[in-house]
Amino acid sequence: MDNCIFCKIIAKQIPASVVYEDDELLAFKDINPAAPVHLLVIPKQHVATLSDCTDVHAPVLGKMLALAPKLAAEHGIAVKTGPDGQRSGGYKTLFNVGPDGGQEVYHLHLHVYGGPRPWRGLG
Ligand code: ADP
Repeated sequence: MDNCIFCKIIAKQIPASVVYEDDELLAFKDINPAAPVHLLVIPKQHVATLSDCTDVHAPVLGKMLALAPKLAAEHGIAVKTGPDGQRSGGYKTLFNVGPDGGQEVYHLHLHVYGGPRPWRGLG
């Protein structure tokens, strides 16, 4: 899509710190991180917002979510279970959807936040 900043990142027309790429998805570091680890997972095919998604998009949405635990493991934020069964680590996944959802970039993206708190503006 013309004038879509994330399409330009996919096309390598503007730089990004890419952490994952395959035929369908790209993941890169957020330029203005709200947490020590802040990654964005996007589909290569332009979809403006989750609000535009239908059943047709279920496979790519599933791939985006399934990538989150792999990225978390690679970036040191995976959930770990200690010998006592206590869990530690972990991360937040988020889709902002539309103006009231706080979406500013209209190319579908999944936020993955993690690392030591505090995080900016996140519960
Ligand atoms: P919000 O800014 O409220 O989180 P979005 O959910 O639309 O809105 O998130 C867009 C995200 O894209 C922001 O976290 C922003 O920092 C990030 N971003 C914008 N431009 C770039 C870029 N060129 N490279 C990496 N991340 C970017």
